[in-house]
Amino acid sequence: MQIPGRCHCGAISFTALIDPSRVIACHCTDCQQFSGAPFRAVIPTPVENVRLSGAPRHYVKVAESGNRRAQAFCAECGTQLYATEAEAPRVLNLRLGCVAERAMLPPRAQIWCESSMPWLQDLGALPRHAKGTSSPVLAPAGAAGGRPEVRNRPGGDPDDRIQQVPAQGPA
Ligand SMILES: [Zn+2]
Ligand SMILES: [Zn+2]
Repeated sequence: MQIPGRCHCGAISFTALIDPSRVIACHCTDCQQFSGAPFRAVIPTPVENVRLSGAPRHYVKVAESGNRRAQAFCAECGTQLYATEAEAPRVLNLRLGCVAERAMLPPRAQIWCESSMPWLQDLGALPRHAKGTSSPVLAPAGAAGGRPEVRNRPGGDPDDRIQQVPAQGPA
């Protein structure tokens, strides 16, 4: 399957020939910290199957084992693009979040579950707003035929507000 991907600002884009059966969700603490999210999903893809446009910056992470992994990201917008072998890239672990068709690429396995967030499995029971917290609540995931229920609560998408303040340097 051929997939396009890009960073948020568009300075870096790629097309990749991927195997949808290889998508995995990683719950390791590095993925949590790098991504700022409770877990990260990746698609391991041979480097020769990826055509990259633009020059990502690399941060080299040294594991306890001495293993060196380059974490590639856009220097302009910070979007994480992939991780790979620091010295001789062989496989790029493409970050699912920058892939256009990510909704059609569910993970087939989870790894590093011993450090997964214990509350992840409870998310399904929480109210599911269509957009911000003042938007309609959708039917529970998987429920058929549910109509949005409108609730009037203050607040908007926190990201909308963040985007209005000037950048404050690297986090
Ligand atoms: Zn960018
Ligand atoms: Zn990980």
